[in-house]
Amino acid sequence: MRKLCMLLVLFVALGAKAQNADSLFIRQLSNVIMGKGYAYDKLRELCKQIGPRLTGSRQMFAAETWGAKSFADMQGVQVRLQPCKIKRWVRGNIDNAYILVEGKRMVRLDATALGNSMGSGKAGVTAAPILINTYAELEQRKEEVKGKIVFYNADMPSVEVQPFNAYGSTGIFRRSGASRAAKYGAVGIIIRSLSTGTDNHPHTGVMSYNDSFPKIPAMAMGLQDADKVVALFKSGKPMTMTLMSDGRFLTDTTGNNVIGEIKGTEFPNEIITVGGHLDSWDLAEGAHDDGAGCVQSMQVLKALLELGYKPKRTIRAVLFCNEENGGAGGDEYFEAAKRNNEKHLFALESDAGGFTPRGFSVSTSVEDSRLKKLQSYLPLLSPFGVETIGKGGDGADISDLKALGTLTSGFRPDAQRYFDVHHARSDVFENVNKRELLLGAVNMAALIYLVDKYGL
Ligand SMILES: [Zn+2]
Repeated sequence: MRKLCMLLVLFVALGAKAQNADSLFIRQLSNVIMGKGYAYDKLRELCKQIGPRLTGSRQMFAAETWGAKSFADMQGVQVRLQPCKIKRWVRGNIDNAYILVEGKRMVRLDATALGNSMGSGKAGVTAAPILINTYAELEQRKEEVKGKIVFYNADMPSVEVQPFNAYGSTGIFRRSGASRAAKYGAVGIIIRSLSTGTDNHPHTGVMSYNDSFPKIPAMAMGLQDADKVVALFKSGKPMTMTLMSDGRFLTDTTGNNVIGEIKGTEFPNEIITVGGHLDSWDLAEGAHDDGAGCVQSMQVLKALLELGYKPKRTIRAVLFCNEENGGAGGDEYFEAAKRNNEKHLFALESDAGGFTPRGFSVSTSVEDSRLKKLQSYLPLLSPFGVETIGKGGDGADISDLKALGTLTSGFRPDAQRYFDVHHARSDVFENVNKRELLLGAVNMAALIYLVDKYGL
Protein backbone atom coordinates (compact mmCIF):
# COMPACT_ATOMS: atom_id res chain seq x y z
CA MET A 1 0.00 0.00 0.00
CA ARG A 2 2.79 2.33 0.96
CA LYS A 3 4.59 1.46 -2.27
CA LEU A 4 1.42 2.19 -4.25
CA CYS A 5 1.07 5.55 -2.55
CA MET A 6 4.66 6.40 -3.35
CA LEU A 7 4.12 5.41 -6.95
CA LEU A 8 1.00 7.55 -7.15
CA VAL A 9 2.85 10.54 -5.74
CA LEU A 10 5.59 9.97 -8.31
CA PHE A 11 3.10 9.86 -11.18
CA VAL A 12 1.35 13.02 -10.04
CA ALA A 13 4.70 14.72 -9.63
CA LEU A 14 5.81 13.65 -13.11
CA GLY A 15 2.50 14.84 -14.57
CA ALA A 16 2.86 18.17 -12.83
CA LYS A 17 6.42 18.44 -14.09
CA ALA A 18 5.29 17.88 -17.70
CA GLN A 19 2.54 20.47 -17.21
CA ASN A 20 5.08 22.86 -15.77
CA ALA A 21 7.49 22.31 -18.63
CA ASP A 22 4.67 22.88 -21.11
CA SER A 23 3.41 26.01 -19.45
CA LEU A 24 6.95 27.37 -19.32
CA PHE A 25 7.50 26.62 -22.98
CA ILE A 26 4.19 28.20 -23.98
CA ARG A 27 5.13 31.26 -21.95
CA GLN A 28 8.36 31.42 -23.96
CA LEU A 29 6.42 31.11 -27.20
CA SER A 30 4.25 33.99 -26.05
CA ASN A 31 7.27 36.09 -25.11
CA VAL A 32 8.86 35.59 -28.52
CA ILE A 33 5.65 36.25 -30.46
CA MET A 34 4.33 39.17 -28.43
CA GLY A 35 7.79 40.61 -27.87
CA LYS A 36 9.09 40.59 -31.42
CA GLY A 37 5.86 41.06 -33.39
CA TYR A 38 7.00 39.16 -36.50
CA ALA A 39 3.48 38.30 -37.66
CA TYR A 40 2.39 41.93 -37.49
CA ASP A 41 5.42 43.14 -39.46
CA LYS A 42 4.80 40.49 -42.11
CA LEU A 43 1.15 41.49 -42.35
CA ARG A 44 2.18 45.08 -42.97
CA GLU A 45 4.45 43.93 -45.81
CA LEU A 46 1.77 41.75 -47.35
CA CYS A 47 -0.92 44.44 -47.16
CA LYS A 48 1.11 47.53 -47.98
CA GLN A 49 3.78 46.26 -50.36
CA ILE A 50 1.55 43.83 -52.26
CA GLY A 51 -2.07 44.67 -51.47
CA PRO A 52 -5.19 42.94 -52.83
CA ARG A 53 -4.50 39.40 -54.02
CA LEU A 54 -7.34 38.22 -56.20
CA THR A 55 -6.72 34.74 -57.59
CA GLY A 56 -4.66 34.91 -60.77
CA SER A 57 -3.73 38.58 -60.33
CA ARG A 58 -0.21 39.97 -60.51
CA GLN A 59 -0.38 40.63 -56.77
CA MET A 60 -1.35 37.03 -56.02
CA PHE A 61 1.81 35.83 -57.75
CA ALA A 62 3.84 38.52 -55.95
CA ALA A 63 2.40 37.23 -52.66
CA GLU A 64 3.50 33.69 -53.49
CA THR A 65 7.04 34.92 -54.08
CA TRP A 66 6.88 36.91 -50.84
CA GLY A 67 5.64 33.86 -48.90
CA ALA A 68 8.32 31.58 -50.32
CA LYS A 69 11.06 34.12 -49.54
CA SER A 70 9.72 34.60 -46.01
CA PHE A 71 9.95 30.85 -45.37
CA ALA A 72 13.40 30.69 -46.98
CA ASP A 73 14.56 33.43 -44.61
CA MET A 74 13.81 31.14 -41.65
CA GLN A 75 16.78 28.88 -40.98
CA GLY A 76 15.64 25.27 -40.92
CA VAL A 77 12.51 25.54 -43.08
CA GLN A 78 12.18 23.70 -46.37
CA VAL A 79 10.16 25.68 -48.88
CA ARG A 80 8.22 24.51 -51.86
CA LEU A 81 5.45 25.60 -54.17
CA GLN A 82 2.59 23.23 -54.89
CA PRO A 83 1.01 24.14 -58.24
CA CYS A 84 -2.74 24.13 -58.75
CA LYS A 85 -4.93 24.98 -61.72
CA ILE A 86 -6.95 28.11 -61.13
CA LYS A 87 -9.85 29.81 -62.83
CA ARG A 88 -9.23 33.49 -63.21
CA TRP A 89 -12.16 35.84 -62.62
CA VAL A 90 -11.70 39.58 -63.00
CA ARG A 91 -14.04 42.36 -61.96
CA GLY A 92 -13.26 44.41 -65.07
CA ASN A 93 -13.53 48.16 -65.25
CA ILE A 94 -17.09 49.03 -64.32
CA ASP A 95 -18.79 48.58 -60.95
CA ASN A 96 -21.74 50.89 -60.81
CA ALA A 97 -25.41 50.88 -59.84
CA TYR A 98 -28.09 53.54 -59.52
CA ILE A 99 -31.82 54.14 -59.29
CA LEU A 100 -33.84 56.62 -61.30
CA VAL A 101 -36.92 57.79 -59.38
CA GLU A 102 -39.84 58.98 -61.51
CA GLY A 103 -37.51 59.13 -64.49
CA LYS A 104 -35.51 62.05 -63.18
CA ARG A 105 -34.00 61.85 -59.68
CA MET A 106 -30.86 59.71 -59.69
CA VAL A 107 -29.87 57.87 -56.50
CA ARG A 108 -26.36 56.42 -56.75
CA LEU A 109 -25.73 53.17 -54.91
CA ASP A 110 -22.39 52.12 -53.47
CA ALA A 111 -22.35 48.72 -55.11
CA THR A 112 -19.93 46.06 -56.26
CA ALA A 113 -20.16 42.92 -58.37
CA LEU A 114 -20.24 39.56 -56.62
CA GLY A 115 -17.23 37.34 -57.23
CA ASN A 116 -17.48 35.03 -60.26
CA SER A 117 -20.50 36.96 -61.62
CA MET A 118 -20.84 37.88 -65.28
CA GLY A 119 -20.94 41.51 -66.37
CA SER A 120 -23.94 43.47 -67.56
CA GLY A 121 -22.49 44.52 -70.92
CA LYS A 122 -21.42 48.09 -71.62
CA ALA A 123 -24.91 49.59 -71.63
CA GLY A 124 -25.73 48.02 -68.28
CA VAL A 125 -29.00 46.36 -67.37
CA THR A 126 -31.93 48.65 -66.61
CA ALA A 127 -35.24 47.41 -65.27
CA ALA A 128 -37.83 47.94 -62.58
CA PRO A 129 -36.59 46.53 -59.27
CA ILE A 130 -38.59 44.14 -57.12
CA LEU A 131 -37.90 43.83 -53.40
CA ILE A 132 -37.68 40.28 -52.09
CA ASN A 133 -36.88 39.34 -48.49
CA THR A 134 -36.92 35.56 -48.56
CA TYR A 135 -36.92 32.66 -51.03
CA ALA A 136 -40.46 31.85 -49.88
CA GLU A 137 -41.47 35.33 -51.00
CA LEU A 138 -39.65 34.84 -54.31
CA GLU A 139 -41.70 31.71 -54.93
CA GLN A 140 -44.95 33.48 -54.02
CA ARG A 141 -44.23 36.37 -56.35
CA LYS A 142 -42.47 34.50 -59.14
CA GLU A 143 -44.98 35.75 -61.77
CA GLU A 144 -43.87 39.34 -61.04
CA VAL A 145 -40.13 38.71 -61.43
CA LYS A 146 -39.88 38.50 -65.24
CA GLY A 147 -37.85 41.35 -66.77
CA LYS A 148 -37.01 42.83 -63.35
CA ILE A 149 -33.98 43.27 -61.14
CA VAL A 150 -34.44 41.39 -57.88
CA PHE A 151 -33.26 43.23 -54.78
CA TYR A 152 -32.68 40.67 -52.04
CA ASN A 153 -33.00 42.61 -48.82
CA ALA A 154 -32.19 39.86 -46.31
CA ASP A 155 -30.35 41.27 -43.30
CA MET A 156 -27.80 39.37 -41.21
CA PRO A 157 -30.01 39.09 -38.11
CA SER A 158 -28.63 41.31 -35.37
CA VAL A 159 -30.25 39.13 -32.68
CA GLU A 160 -27.96 36.25 -33.70
CA VAL A 161 -25.14 36.41 -31.15
CA GLN A 162 -22.71 34.42 -33.32
CA PRO A 163 -22.11 36.39 -36.55
CA PHE A 164 -20.86 33.29 -38.41
CA ASN A 165 -24.29 31.72 -37.95
CA ALA A 166 -25.97 34.82 -39.37
CA TYR A 167 -23.51 34.82 -42.26
CA GLY A 168 -24.17 31.17 -43.00
CA SER A 169 -27.95 31.53 -43.13
CA THR A 170 -28.21 34.91 -44.88
CA GLY A 171 -25.43 34.06 -47.34
CA ILE A 172 -27.73 31.91 -49.49
CA PHE A 173 -28.93 34.95 -51.45
CA ARG A 174 -25.39 35.90 -52.40
CA ARG A 175 -24.42 32.34 -53.22
CA SER A 176 -27.44 31.21 -55.23
CA GLY A 177 -29.78 34.21 -55.56
CA ALA A 178 -28.91 35.04 -59.17
CA SER A 179 -29.96 31.73 -60.68
CA ARG A 180 -33.00 31.45 -58.41
CA ALA A 181 -34.17 34.79 -59.82
CA ALA A 182 -33.06 34.08 -63.41
CA LYS A 183 -35.23 30.97 -63.31
CA TYR A 184 -38.27 33.27 -63.23
CA GLY A 185 -36.93 35.68 -65.83
CA ALA A 186 -35.09 38.28 -63.71
CA VAL A 187 -32.46 40.26 -65.64
CA GLY A 188 -30.19 41.04 -62.67
CA ILE A 189 -29.94 40.86 -58.89
CA ILE A 190 -28.52 43.04 -56.19
CA ILE A 191 -28.27 42.00 -52.55
CA ARG A 192 -28.14 43.83 -49.28
CA SER A 193 -24.47 43.29 -48.30
CA LEU A 194 -23.61 40.57 -45.82
CA SER A 195 -22.33 42.99 -43.24
CA THR A 196 -22.60 43.78 -39.56
CA GLY A 197 -21.04 47.20 -40.07
CA THR A 198 -22.68 50.59 -39.71
CA ASP A 199 -20.98 52.09 -42.77
CA ASN A 200 -22.09 51.91 -46.39
CA HIS A 201 -19.34 49.74 -47.89
CA PRO A 202 -20.56 47.02 -50.24
CA HIS A 203 -19.25 43.52 -49.46
CA THR A 204 -18.41 41.14 -52.28
CA GLY A 205 -18.04 37.36 -52.00
CA VAL A 206 -18.37 34.32 -54.15
CA MET A 207 -21.52 33.37 -56.03
CA SER A 208 -22.20 30.64 -58.55
CA TYR A 209 -24.67 30.07 -61.36
CA ASN A 210 -26.89 27.15 -62.13
CA ASP A 211 -26.04 26.46 -65.78
CA SER A 212 -29.72 25.84 -66.63
CA PHE A 213 -30.55 29.55 -66.42
CA PRO A 214 -29.16 32.78 -67.93
CA LYS A 215 -26.08 34.14 -66.17
CA ILE A 216 -27.44 37.50 -65.07
CA PRO A 217 -25.35 40.23 -63.37
CA ALA A 218 -25.18 40.02 -59.58
CA MET A 219 -24.10 42.80 -57.25
CA ALA A 220 -24.16 43.86 -53.59
CA MET A 221 -24.89 47.29 -52.13
CA GLY A 222 -24.00 48.96 -48.83
CA LEU A 223 -26.40 48.75 -45.88
CA GLN A 224 -27.24 52.46 -45.80
CA ASP A 225 -28.11 52.37 -49.49
CA ALA A 226 -30.16 49.23 -48.97
CA ASP A 227 -32.19 51.09 -46.32
CA LYS A 228 -32.56 53.99 -48.74
CA VAL A 229 -33.88 51.69 -51.46
CA VAL A 230 -36.35 50.11 -49.02
CA ALA A 231 -37.63 53.62 -48.22
CA LEU A 232 -38.02 54.32 -51.96
CA PHE A 233 -40.11 51.18 -52.33
CA LYS A 234 -42.28 52.37 -49.44
CA SER A 235 -42.79 55.75 -51.13
CA GLY A 236 -44.47 53.92 -53.99
CA LYS A 237 -42.86 56.18 -56.60
CA PRO A 238 -42.07 54.51 -59.93
CA MET A 239 -38.39 53.73 -60.38
CA THR A 240 -35.91 51.87 -62.50
CA MET A 241 -32.62 50.38 -61.42
CA THR A 242 -29.45 50.15 -63.52
CA LEU A 243 -26.66 47.65 -62.86
CA MET A 244 -23.33 48.08 -64.63
CA SER A 245 -20.69 45.44 -64.06
CA ASP A 246 -17.89 43.92 -66.08
CA GLY A 247 -17.03 40.57 -64.47
CA ARG A 248 -15.65 37.81 -66.65
CA PHE A 249 -13.27 34.87 -66.68
CA LEU A 250 -9.89 35.03 -68.40
CA THR A 251 -8.07 31.87 -69.47
CA ASP A 252 -7.20 29.43 -66.69
CA THR A 253 -3.76 29.64 -65.22
CA THR A 254 -1.63 28.01 -62.50
CA GLY A 255 -1.26 29.28 -58.97
CA ASN A 256 0.57 27.75 -56.01
CA ASN A 257 0.17 26.76 -52.41
CA VAL A 258 3.26 28.05 -50.62
CA ILE A 259 4.55 25.51 -48.12
CA GLY A 260 7.16 25.93 -45.40
CA GLU A 261 8.06 22.77 -43.53
CA ILE A 262 10.10 21.70 -40.52
CA LYS A 263 10.89 17.98 -40.69
CA GLY A 264 9.98 15.88 -37.69
CA THR A 265 12.78 14.21 -35.74
CA GLU A 266 10.88 11.13 -34.45
CA PHE A 267 7.88 10.75 -36.72
CA PRO A 268 8.76 12.64 -39.90
CA ASN A 269 5.93 10.94 -41.78
CA GLU A 270 3.26 12.32 -39.47
CA ILE A 271 2.24 15.74 -40.72
CA ILE A 272 0.76 18.64 -38.81
CA THR A 273 -0.56 21.47 -40.99
CA VAL A 274 -1.20 25.04 -39.94
CA GLY A 275 -2.44 27.47 -42.56
CA GLY A 276 -4.42 30.35 -43.95
CA HIS A 277 -5.24 31.48 -47.47
CA LEU A 278 -3.03 33.86 -49.39
CA ASP A 279 -5.58 35.04 -51.95
CA SER A 280 -8.06 37.78 -51.09
CA TRP A 281 -10.79 39.76 -52.77
CA ASP A 282 -9.71 42.63 -54.96
CA LEU A 283 -11.44 45.44 -53.05
CA ALA A 284 -9.03 45.66 -50.14
CA GLU A 285 -5.79 44.38 -48.67
CA GLY A 286 -7.25 41.15 -47.31
CA ALA A 287 -5.78 41.95 -43.91
CA HIS A 288 -8.18 40.02 -41.69
CA ASP A 289 -9.28 37.74 -44.55
CA ASP A 290 -6.89 36.12 -44.64
CA GLY A 291 -3.54 37.84 -44.44
CA ALA A 292 -3.89 37.36 -40.69
CA GLY A 293 -4.17 33.58 -40.94
CA CYS A 294 -1.13 33.44 -43.24
CA VAL A 295 1.19 35.48 -41.04
CA GLN A 296 0.00 33.67 -37.90
CA SER A 297 0.85 30.34 -39.53
CA MET A 298 4.27 31.65 -40.55
CA GLN A 299 4.72 32.92 -37.01
CA VAL A 300 4.12 29.43 -35.60
CA LEU A 301 7.16 28.08 -37.46
CA LYS A 302 9.24 31.15 -36.72
CA ALA A 303 8.61 31.02 -32.96
CA LEU A 304 9.29 27.28 -32.68
CA LEU A 305 12.57 27.74 -34.55
CA GLU A 306 13.62 30.71 -32.48
CA LEU A 307 13.22 28.66 -29.33
CA GLY A 308 15.28 25.85 -30.81
CA TYR A 309 12.34 23.46 -30.66
CA LYS A 310 12.88 20.23 -32.59
CA PRO A 311 9.44 18.90 -33.49
CA LYS A 312 8.81 15.17 -33.26
CA ARG A 313 6.46 15.38 -36.21
CA THR A 314 6.68 17.30 -39.48
CA ILE A 315 5.12 20.72 -39.12
CA ARG A 316 3.94 22.51 -42.24
CA ALA A 317 2.75 26.05 -42.60
CA VAL A 318 0.67 26.38 -45.76
CA LEU A 319 -0.41 29.57 -47.50
CA PHE A 320 -3.29 28.30 -49.57
CA CYS A 321 -4.18 29.46 -53.06
CA ASN A 322 -7.64 30.48 -54.33
CA GLU A 323 -9.82 29.93 -51.24
CA GLU A 324 -12.20 32.79 -52.00
CA ASN A 325 -13.47 31.95 -55.45
CA GLY A 326 -12.57 28.39 -56.30
CA GLY A 327 -10.87 26.42 -53.54
CA ALA A 328 -8.25 25.02 -55.92
CA GLY A 329 -5.45 25.27 -53.33
CA GLY A 330 -7.25 23.21 -50.70
CA ASP A 331 -8.33 20.70 -53.34
CA GLU A 332 -4.78 20.22 -54.58
CA TYR A 333 -3.37 19.92 -51.06
CA PHE A 334 -5.82 17.12 -50.34
CA GLU A 335 -5.26 15.37 -53.70
CA ALA A 336 -1.47 15.49 -53.22
CA ALA A 337 -1.82 14.08 -49.70
CA LYS A 338 -3.83 11.19 -51.11
CA ARG A 339 -1.51 10.60 -54.09
CA ASN A 340 1.57 10.58 -51.88
CA ASN A 341 -0.04 8.47 -49.19
CA GLU A 342 0.78 11.10 -46.58
CA LYS A 343 -0.28 10.65 -42.99
CA HIS A 344 -1.93 13.87 -41.82
CA LEU A 345 -2.40 13.85 -38.07
CA PHE A 346 -3.75 17.32 -37.47
CA ALA A 347 -4.64 20.40 -39.51
CA LEU A 348 -5.47 23.85 -38.20
CA GLU A 349 -6.68 26.77 -40.31
CA SER A 350 -6.93 30.39 -39.24
CA ASP A 351 -9.48 32.08 -41.49
CA ALA A 352 -11.82 34.00 -39.21
CA GLY A 353 -9.86 37.23 -38.75
CA GLY A 354 -6.97 38.41 -36.63
CA PHE A 355 -9.07 39.22 -33.57
CA THR A 356 -8.78 38.31 -29.88
CA PRO A 357 -8.48 34.55 -29.49
CA ARG A 358 -11.48 32.78 -27.98
CA GLY A 359 -11.15 29.14 -28.94
CA PHE A 360 -10.60 26.39 -31.43
CA SER A 361 -13.26 24.31 -33.09
CA VAL A 362 -12.99 20.90 -34.63
CA SER A 363 -15.08 19.28 -37.31
CA THR A 364 -18.36 17.86 -36.06
CA SER A 365 -17.31 14.32 -36.99
CA VAL A 366 -14.34 14.18 -34.58
CA GLU A 367 -14.59 11.37 -32.01
CA ASP A 368 -15.12 12.48 -28.42
CA SER A 369 -11.88 10.84 -27.25
CA ARG A 370 -9.73 12.94 -29.58
CA LEU A 371 -11.69 16.08 -28.75
CA LYS A 372 -11.22 15.38 -25.02
CA LYS A 373 -7.48 15.13 -25.50
CA LEU A 374 -7.43 18.58 -27.09
CA GLN A 375 -9.71 19.94 -24.38
CA SER A 376 -7.29 18.68 -21.73
CA TYR A 377 -4.90 21.42 -22.95
CA LEU A 378 -7.30 24.24 -22.08
CA PRO A 379 -5.67 25.01 -18.70
CA LEU A 380 -2.41 25.61 -20.60
CA LEU A 381 -4.08 27.84 -23.22
CA SER A 382 -6.50 29.84 -21.13
CA PRO A 383 -3.86 32.26 -19.74
CA PHE A 384 -3.45 33.38 -23.37
CA GLY A 385 -7.14 33.72 -24.22
CA VAL A 386 -8.41 30.41 -25.59
CA GLU A 387 -11.27 29.27 -23.37
CA THR A 388 -13.12 26.74 -25.50
CA ILE A 389 -12.40 23.82 -27.79
CA GLY A 390 -15.54 22.28 -29.20
CA LYS A 391 -17.23 20.92 -32.26
CA GLY A 392 -18.13 23.45 -34.88
CA GLY A 393 -16.07 23.66 -38.01
CA ASP A 394 -12.58 23.58 -39.39
CA GLY A 395 -11.44 25.53 -42.43
CA ALA A 396 -12.30 25.48 -46.13
CA ASP A 397 -8.76 24.60 -47.23
CA ILE A 398 -8.20 21.68 -44.87
CA SER A 399 -11.67 20.28 -44.43
CA ASP A 400 -11.23 17.56 -47.06
CA LEU A 401 -8.37 16.02 -45.06
CA LYS A 402 -11.03 14.55 -42.76
CA ALA A 403 -11.41 11.81 -45.35
CA LEU A 404 -7.84 10.73 -44.50
CA GLY A 405 -8.61 10.51 -40.79
CA THR A 406 -7.02 13.87 -40.02
CA LEU A 407 -8.32 15.85 -37.08
CA THR A 408 -9.25 19.15 -38.75
CA SER A 409 -9.78 22.33 -36.78
CA GLY A 410 -10.28 26.07 -37.03
CA PHE A 411 -8.97 28.95 -34.97
CA ARG A 412 -11.90 30.90 -33.49
CA PRO A 413 -11.17 34.48 -32.58
CA ASP A 414 -13.83 36.90 -31.41
CA ALA A 415 -16.18 37.31 -34.38
CA GLN A 416 -18.15 40.43 -33.44
CA ARG A 417 -16.24 42.80 -35.72
CA TYR A 418 -15.24 40.40 -38.48
CA PHE A 419 -18.24 40.98 -40.74
CA ASP A 420 -17.82 44.75 -40.48
CA VAL A 421 -14.82 44.43 -42.81
CA HIS A 422 -15.13 40.98 -44.38
CA HIS A 423 -14.84 41.18 -48.21
CA ALA A 424 -15.17 44.98 -48.11
CA ARG A 425 -12.78 47.83 -48.92
CA SER A 426 -12.28 48.33 -45.19
CA ASP A 427 -10.40 45.03 -44.74
CA VAL A 428 -7.08 46.83 -44.43
CA PHE A 429 -3.99 46.54 -42.26
CA GLU A 430 -5.01 49.52 -40.12
CA ASN A 431 -8.05 47.58 -38.94
CA VAL A 432 -5.95 44.78 -37.46
CA ASN A 433 -4.92 45.20 -33.85
CA LYS A 434 -1.32 44.17 -33.24
CA ARG A 435 -1.82 42.54 -29.85
CA GLU A 436 -4.93 40.65 -30.91
CA LEU A 437 -3.22 39.29 -34.03
CA LEU A 438 -0.14 38.18 -32.12
CA LEU A 439 -2.10 36.64 -29.27
CA GLY A 440 -3.93 34.52 -31.83
CA ALA A 441 -0.57 33.26 -33.09
CA VAL A 442 0.49 32.46 -29.51
CA ASN A 443 -2.48 30.15 -29.04
CA MET A 444 -2.01 28.53 -32.43
CA ALA A 445 1.69 27.92 -31.75
CA ALA A 446 0.86 26.48 -28.32
CA LEU A 447 -1.70 24.07 -29.72
CA ILE A 448 0.61 22.94 -32.54
CA TYR A 449 3.37 22.39 -29.99
CA LEU A 450 1.13 20.27 -27.73
CA VAL A 451 -0.21 18.16 -30.59
CA ASP A 452 3.33 17.64 -31.85
CA LYS A 453 4.62 16.63 -28.42
CA TYR A 454 1.80 14.33 -27.33
CA GLY A 455 0.18 13.20 -30.60
CA LEU A 456 -3.55 12.68 -30.88
ZN1 LIG B 1 -11.10 33.82 -45.85
